[in-house]
Amino acid sequence: MSAPLQAIRGMNDVLPEEAALWLAFERTVENWLERWGYRNIRMPLVEQTALFRRAIGEATDIVEKEMYSWRDELNGEDLTLRPEGTASCVRAAIEHNLLYDGPKRLWYAGPMYRHERPQKGRYRQFHQYGAEALGYPGPDVDAELIVMCARLWHELGLEGIRLELNTIGSPEERARYRADLVQHLEANAARLDADATRRLHTNPLRVLDSKNPMVQEVVARAPDMKQYLGEASLAHFEGLKKLLAAAGVGYRINPKLVRGLDYYNLTVFEWISDRLGAQGTVCGGGRYDGLFEQIGGKPAPAIGFAMGCERLVALVALSGCLASPRRPDAYVVHQGEGTLEVAFALSDALRAAGFAVVQHAGGGSFKSQMKKADSSGAALALILGEDELRAAEVTVKPLRDGRPQWREPHAALAERFPQLLRVR
Ligand code: ATP
Ligand code: MG
Repeated sequence: MSAPLQAIRGMNDVLPEEAALWLAFERTVENWLERWGYRNIRMPLVEQTALFRRAIGEATDIVEKEMYSWRDELNGEDLTLRPEGTASCVRAAIEHNLLYDGPKRLWYAGPMYRHERPQKGRYRQFHQYGAEALGYPGPDVDAELIVMCARLWHELGLEGIRLELNTIGSPEERARYRADLVQHLEANAARLDADATRRLHTNPLRVLDSKNPMVQEVVARAPDMKQYLGEASLAHFEGLKKLLAAAGVGYRINPKLVRGLDYYNLTVFEWISDRLGAQGTVCGGGRYDGLFEQIGGKPAPAIGFAMGCERLVALVALSGCLASPRRPDAYVVHQGEGTLEVAFALSDALRAAGFAVVQHAGGGSFKSQMKKADSSGAALALILGEDELRAAEVTVKPLRDGRPQWREPHAALAERFPQLLRVR
């Protein structure tokens, strides 16, 4: 026998027990997105590498070292497994002219791929839900996106997810700030680590969120972005803060929050939990008014967020708030000549009426079938033996309460089924 093959490092199976929690999570999130007026869009998992290079930016962690890229020799194309959804979503909006009749609220979901060092809360295949409000200048829709997240945490039964907020101004304001920041960092070059030194000229804003205490000390004395903001940027931020306050959503302004991707401007935000260790950011987003133009579309203002499903599902598991998986209403036990066909028909009719029914498969003694019925978690066992078959009846055996068993006719079983489930 050859050695068993294993899943790729950082790419996880989700086994049935945990998958049930995922399903409950996904149903809650999708219902919430639709209620807020966001419509689903589905993009391919593979795009031209150029899309991410242009959209996310050359000097970002993702493009520098995290992308799964390869050359498709058959077509002579450079391709990449998507590391995030916004670039694809905007590419699709441009390609299909989705904004022709006005702005659009969209959501997407699915796996993303980044070649990171796998650890708790950080994987190479992970999943996101993303929402994008395309064509809206804000700040009303900025507030909408943030408030809707706060409402989702509540619906998921999650507490203590805090909001960090910042504004990084317009590209012009940022360019002026960037120049002064670089000057400050250069003046303190001796105190920068290798990472900060490398970023100094490629992506100096990222130096702001360095975790190194020595670098942090330099950063603490760096010029303040706020001083560089013009009237329009300040007004946008004030408008957002006012709406958040009116909705009762608290926040902390974090002037060092710049986010890892190049395409952001004005509003940036992150939702953070302290219950997940180092990987505590469960959702991040921001405004990206320049992105449409950057990837070849007509300019359009836009803002969005993406949340990490693995981290949120882990929180949901900790809180234990989401409903447990649906147990079968009935487990159908059958034994004897001619019972299987009738069992099929009865199960079928019950499922068509909306009940969850598991029919025993694989044969076995009555006793072993009843054991399976019990461990399935079903409320009732419906037993069909030759005796029942002759009488056109089933034996109903409640499995979760002390009621004694009884017999019911086959005819109109589905109509009477709700009463059978009820504890007498
Ligand atoms: P981080 O700072 O944790 O690397 P990021 O800024 O790279 O996050 P985004 O690109 O903003 O993350 O993605 C949005 C969310 O997706 C994150 O807040 C996080 O919850 C989740 N996420 C990002 N990368 C991973 C990963 N490798 N594994 C699991 N979840 C991830
Ligand atoms: Mg990252």
